[in-house]
Amino acid sequence: MSPTSFTTGNLVNFLLSQRDAGENTDKFVHLTAGACGACRFGQYHQSYELALRNVGLDAFRMFLLAQDQMDQGEIAGGGIEFSMPLTIGALWAVLLADVVQDIEYQTRPYEVVRGQTDAVVKVAIEELFEAIRTRPKRDGKWSALAWHLATNHFTAVLRRIFKRFAEIEVDRLEAKPMVKITGEFYLQTLEGAANYNIHRWLEAEGAEVYPAAVAVWFDYLLRVRAQHYEAYLGVDPAARAKLFAVRALQRLYRFAYDRLRGALGGLPRALPNQYVLRQLAAPYYHHRLQGGEGDMLIGKALWAHLNAKAHMICELSPYACLPNTMSVGAMANVLGKHPDLLYAPIEIKGDAEIHALSRCQMIFTEAKKRAKAEFEQALDVSGLTLAAVRERLAVAGANRATYRVRQRGFAGTGANLIAGIDRP
Ligand code: SF4
Repeated sequence: MSPTSFTTGNLVNFLLSQRDAGENTDKFVHLTAGACGACRFGQYHQSYELALRNVGLDAFRMFLLAQDQMDQGEIAGGGIEFSMPLTIGALWAVLLADVVQDIEYQTRPYEVVRGQTDAVVKVAIEELFEAIRTRPKRDGKWSALAWHLATNHFTAVLRRIFKRFAEIEVDRLEAKPMVKITGEFYLQTLEGAANYNIHRWLEAEGAEVYPAAVAVWFDYLLRVRAQHYEAYLGVDPAARAKLFAVRALQRLYRFAYDRLRGALGGLPRALPNQYVLRQLAAPYYHHRLQGGEGDMLIGKALWAHLNAKAHMICELSPYACLPNTMSVGAMANVLGKHPDLLYAPIEIKGDAEIHALSRCQMIFTEAKKRAKAEFEQALDVSGLTLAAVRERLAVAGANRATYRVRQRGFAGTGANLIAGIDRP
């Protein structure tokens, strides 16, 4: 499986480079997340152990963070404690990175000065790192959670980042296809060689990428927990109360994410409703099949297609991944019912890059045509020339990265922007 190969290789290469540079590798620890049932993520630990043993680093400290246990306490002999303050901080770090990444991908394809978005993002990530590092220490389990939910510590930093984005000049009057990235957790979220640098490749081809937020995965985990209690209603007398508690947690989670989005002017996209995804996927994939992304791959593809969130779906599958293979199979049925859904499943393996990218390019060509058609339609309806639209938008401040383009029935940003201006 490609995620295991890449993460094992990264870990070993990093440690060897540190050892060669004269560093003591004992000062590092490796923390990896565990996963659910059928998914083979659980075997990652063994792969790391084997590789580390083979390079003489068998005493290196590795920890498995169970994804359903936020508070595992002190790990015997490890010198680290997986307490709520640590794990909740890690969760917030992910949410903060997600909202910044979303605004980054909305900006870069349209920036007027090349490289400006990347420069702003680099500073933003450093500021967020500092904010996480300097957050006040909270010892209690619940006080740590309450502090993260209520604090302005992170929202103040996000507001500063928002102002930096406001300095970026953009020209969104282009018919760029919107490509939604879905797929296996590791491949869809990572930006690098392990997924053929697909995000940058798509942008270079002329796309606006709709990236996959890790936050959606955490939301899914809460839904999985709720589904578990739903199945016990009428059997376990405590199930209703537990279900109620998980539903309350789901609302709190959404509130926390929306609060971070709000600090960036509401530009980062909202999390899709997990129950809508489940309902959309239901005719094709059972929600209790929980390996990998479960029913979310089907749900997200249909959600993006039916709500004009994207022109095309690019689904990234690692070779030999059972859950993803099942989803790709179920998508054949989905495409039978929705033949106009543009879907590019890409299997990622070392020797197939050119083949996979050229298949993606074929679907992308169709997405380009659709983006162009809707752009022209929006322009026709506006009754304006492109030059007149550009002039009006500049007056309205729409040439700034922080200008909010609301969705007006189109998938493309340019078309939505034109549809939002007042007609003559
Ligand atoms: S989803 Fe697939 S590739 Fe990812 S960890 Fe699970 S089995 Fe491995």
